[in-house]
Amino acid sequence: MSLGSTSLSCKLCGLSEFRASRLRRKDFLRLLFLRLPIRCHACHERTFAPLMAVLRLSRSGHRLAHPARS
Ligand SMILES: [Zn+2]
Repeated sequence: MSLGSTSLSCKLCGLSEFRASRLRRKDFLRLLFLRLPIRCHACHERTFAPLMAVLRLSRSGHRLAHPARS
């Protein structure tokens, strides 16, 4: 496991598309180590990633909302 790079890939399917997963109470311990739950787009495997990686994920990779035309 490499801590330096923030490129993530699923340990089940190898895909590197994730979205942030919902926090559960038992995730608290991981949060202390700045790790957040994420979920694989393809196989829905839930895993944990460094906070920085998750932040980057939600900024770029996450599905962008349609620009609402009002
Ligand atoms: Zn997967």
